[in-house]
Amino acid sequence: MRCPVCHHLENRVLESRSAESGQSVRRRRECLKCTHRFTTYERIEFAPIVVINQNGERQSFDRSKLLREVIRACDRTHVPEAEVEALVSAVEAELQQRTYREIESREISDLVLQHLRSLSEIAYIRYASVYCDFENVESFVETLDRLRSKPPLRDTEINRSTEAESAEPSRV
Ligand SMILES: [Zn+2]
Repeated sequence: MRCPVCHHLENRVLESRSAESGQSVRRRRECLKCTHRFTTYERIEFAPIVVINQNGERQSFDRSKLLREVIRACDRTHVPEAEVEALVSAVEAELQQRTYREIESREISDLVLQHLRSLSEIAYIRYASVYCDFENVESFVETLDRLRSKPPLRDTEINRSTEAESAEPSRV
């Protein structure tokens, strides 16, 4: 980081503190040459997530669209709204942690289904029937069987599975 006054590259950090409610770190720095003091902010870079639809179209990930889809699947299932919000946030966080930024819509549907399983079977089946694009009843049943054989995700498992995924080499 160059000093804004003398353009010297070396400085020392006088103070680091959390800023913007934990979204960034604010650092007070002092130039080692002219002792000018300046402030820098460090933030997490969120690159946009690109979703590849079944027909090959690319769109940026739309959180509110996913939220609407899950709300519709949970209609009259007594799943609290807060749980739906938490599900969408968890899916989004999992996507953000991946090293590759292009994700097939089917992968997102799979993630949603793994979470929905522990919330409501009805919502789970509704979501699967709408977003998994089945060719016939057999492929629908096959997918349900496959998803049912996976254990439902719990908090600790979500962390573990995202760690395992981020260790995979980038697919793009
Ligand atoms: Zn300086």
